[in-house]
Amino acid sequence: MSPLRRRCCWCKADLGGPSDAPATDGVCGPCRKALIPSFLDTLPDATILVGDGVRVKSANAAARGEVGRELPDIEDRVLGEIFGCPHAGKPGGCPDPGDCAPCSVQVPVEDTLRNGTPHEDVPAVLRVESRYIPLYVTTRRVKGGVLLSLGRSPSD
Ligand SMILES: [Zn+2]
Repeated sequence: MSPLRRRCCWCKADLGGPSDAPATDGVCGPCRKALIPSFLDTLPDATILVGDGVRVKSANAAARGEVGRELPDIEDRVLGEIFGCPHAGKPGGCPDPGDCAPCSVQVPVEDTLRNGTPHEDVPAVLRVESRYIPLYVTTRRVKGGVLLSLGRSPSD
């Protein structure tokens, strides 16, 4: 197979390959990052893209509404931190699977990150400051991390 020249189908940036080769479309890093929230917004539940160290990479509008913060305030923060978990960032707290274990949100996320095992509608309790919010956690391994969906009732 002859080499192809890759270019971003959104911004047309050159992504490598011989300049005289036929072009094929890809998506460059900056465009992918810009497109992720739009893609996540098509999902009905509050959905967060979580990367290594349970750090938030992106979140859809429903999830941003749930935590009352916009993307720049939650990107790169550990999961517990965006929910206002009192243990986040402290020794043994999120992202360490220590004293918080078994955190009903972090455990399925970590498992999916490490092993690729998806989880569906796992009953969980989210502690947001002094409130306890019951929800259902669904996780899926995707390129770049784990899609974490927080549902108020089991999906059917
Ligand atoms: Zn691009």
